Amino acid sequence: METGGNSLPSGPDGVKRKVCYFYDPEVGNYYYGQGHPMKPHRIRMTHALLAHYGLLQHMQVLKPFPARDRDLCRFHADDYVAFLRSITPETQQDQLRHLKRFNVGEDCPVFDGLYSFCQTYAGGSVGGAVKLNHGLCDIAINWSGGLHHAKKCEASGFCYVNDIVLAILELLKQHERVLYVDIDIHHGDGVEEAFYTTDRVMTVSFHKFGDYFPDDESYHFLFKPIIGKVMEIFKPGAVILQCGADSLSGDRLGCFNLSIKGHAECVKFMRSFNVPLLLLGGGGYTIRNVARCWCYETGVALGMEVDDKMPQHEYYEYFGPDYTLHVAPSNMENKNSRRLLDEIRSNLLDNLSKLQHAPSVQFQERPPNTELPEVCILQLLWMKIRMMGMRDGIQVLHGCDDERAKREIIKTETKDLFRYSGESERNCCILEARKTADETTSTKALDAGPMQVDESSVKIERENVNKTSDSVFYKS
Ligand SMILES: [Zn+2]
Repeated sequence: METGGNSLPSGPDGVKRKVCYFYDPEVGNYYYGQGHPMKPHRIRMTHALLAHYGLLQHMQVLKPFPARDRDLCRFHADDYVAFLRSITPETQQDQLRHLKRFNVGEDCPVFDGLYSFCQTYAGGSVGGAVKLNHGLCDIAINWSGGLHHAKKCEASGFCYVNDIVLAILELLKQHERVLYVDIDIHHGDGVEEAFYTTDRVMTVSFHKFGDYFPDDESYHFLFKPIIGKVMEIFKPGAVILQCGADSLSGDRLGCFNLSIKGHAECVKFMRSFNVPLLLLGGGGYTIRNVARCWCYETGVALGMEVDDKMPQHEYYEYFGPDYTLHVAPSNMENKNSRRLLDEIRSNLLDNLSKLQHAPSVQFQERPPNTELPEVCILQLLWMKIRMMGMRDGIQVLHGCDDERAKREIIKTETKDLFRYSGESERNCCILEARKTADETTSTKALDAGPMQVDESSVKIERENVNKTSDSVFYKS
């Protein structure tokens, strides 16, 4: 059974999408430390593949403008952001109390350039949301983003600032409802928590919970009908897909058994709805496969099928002995019986059908480019959907952790959630590494390594973003 998603053309014969791709040539230099599984170098490897497969010339390539303190503080606590800005490997011994308080040190180590790293990856995701809001592209991509575990005042699971929450806040300026879908093997908990009490954001996370080792077939047996139903019921104005690649077969930390094509099928499916789409990275710890996956998924976003045979490039030796884009998934046993998957699917679809359709937001009419007085809006608290994953193969939709409330899908509490602030208009400065048609089609440009983005083609574009009255704040 397929619910939606296939009515619009997608793929090589379908409508071409305008794609913006955010990449900072510095990002691959950040280093979490020896033995740490999170390696920003994988972003540079992905970029090298995109360059040598000739995909960059089909997208607008943008260098993100680093997120500023106040951008990060739209979600994060001021003292946490100040801490991230000031901490260095040299000074951390004097900050033990703060390290503990902000959960920085072990999984989330202090490393050189930590704050710039955060500014870069958050800047890419927020920049993508701005581009989508302005209708300047159909799909925006930031493979350095997707750090879904970061909390308001705490680092978690290799994540320091939550670029996804910041991007959603940006999209909410333009769209009544935003859907967040997470295919990382881990729970997108930071994003879920941030928007737990608003009906304007739905978060759907497919992740490991108990003994669940899906292959492509069993994953999509659930993913497609569920997401199809979510799209039909929630009717989001924009979608963020977190493409964590630790759900791939053979991941250093993960244990799912998805092929790259199976993983990318999620991108293809989301794309087919023709809703503004932000694609982000996330986990992924067998870095050669992460680069393979995100390169292939960039091709999917563009509607271009790329060759399995990999072109020669500076990281070619990582991909031996086959030097192909695709790798065979493992022969691990699929522990999900058809009967259980059927049961899970029908329970989920049943729960989804009980939700309020396309909850509307009680917006005041919002004249553009003028300041509104501060106004509090009462919101209907709509139960957040979480797909908690599998326990003994049973996946359930939870409204919240309380057992009684789990069965009660729609709850009508009111809560004042949004504060519309009259933040003054500001100019947003976007650094663009824009390639002209000539540059991108020349051999010179194709041969350029990822670190050799021609700085002369990088220009500063002053973009009047008119961030006026429609800023939505979750902090008060
Ligand atoms: Zn993960």
